[in-house]
Amino acid sequence: MLDNLTQRLARVVKTMRGEARLTEANTAEMLREVRLALLEADVALPVVRDFIAKVKAKALGEDVIGSLSPGQALVGVVQRELTAVIGGEEAVSGGADASKYSELNLNSQPPAIILLAGLQGAGKTTTAGKLAKWLIANKKKKVLTVSCDVYRPAAIAQLKTVAGQVGADFFPSEAGQKPVDIAHAAVDWARKHYHDVLIVDTAGRLGIDEAMMQEISALHATLKPIETLFVVDAMLGQDAVNTAKAFNEALPLTGVILTKLDGDARGGAALSVRHVTGRPIKFVGVGEKLDGLEPFYPERMAQRILG
Ligand code: GDP
Repeated sequence: MLDNLTQRLARVVKTMRGEARLTEANTAEMLREVRLALLEADVALPVVRDFIAKVKAKALGEDVIGSLSPGQALVGVVQRELTAVIGGEEAVSGGADASKYSELNLNSQPPAIILLAGLQGAGKTTTAGKLAKWLIANKKKKVLTVSCDVYRPAAIAQLKTVAGQVGADFFPSEAGQKPVDIAHAAVDWARKHYHDVLIVDTAGRLGIDEAMMQEISALHATLKPIETLFVVDAMLGQDAVNTAKAFNEALPLTGVILTKLDGDARGGAALSVRHVTGRPIKFVGVGEKLDGLEPFYPERMAQRILG
């Protein structure tokens, strides 16, 4: 069992009793521990560097006279800064109100289109079902789902099953069709049948490749979705950075859904992905079942990352 950050810092603090300020020297030593904690939580190295620089600038000169020790003061600075980075403006101004982060923008002529993008296995199809369930239950929306994964007939069948389980409609597509054509047809169908929301599941490859990125950019240009959500597996750890970069460059993302947080992942991917995309994490996936979708709480995630 790894020590949590507070325990780590307490050890450093023992050597500097009586110091009432965070100084260059004691801060540097403690920041080494913070860096280690973040790396253990699988935050990508360049992101850790940037974050440490920010914390250092905030921490120096911070008064810790009174009940606080320099260690506790630094943990406070780290926690606040981490929450601010992974929650963005919303976390700073929104306090504990989670609805601010998880709110989907559905403010468009119906159907409001939600495009899901991510690597194969990230959890897109499962998330399509979870989102449909959430929209039906919480927002009373009529939801249509469609798969543009023309490479894996099994993925199309999987979406059909999932949609059926949550009471969403399913627009059929098949291998060999062009994704852009499927998209056009699904939007037409949704308009004619008065669907409020159209959730579009897309093909994911095992790695980033040019053809995949061009295909999803073309889909985005056709659909002009109000939400373009990047679905990413929290277990990816450090690799989440490169994946997020590639998708962020190919698509104007509006948000992120971090999946598989019910597992052992420490959640470092949350910091990495937010840092790279600048986009809010709107939901987290916490299970294979279709009710395993939760709002994102930046403070909780900051705690989880720090251990
Ligand atoms: P896709 O290839 O991106 O469409 O990914 P899938 O939706 O097929 O999911 C891949 C695997 O991850 C499946 O076995 C899902 O059950 C599983 N999965 C998806 N989301 C979660 C989650 O939040 N937690 C867990 N434990 N498993 C998940």
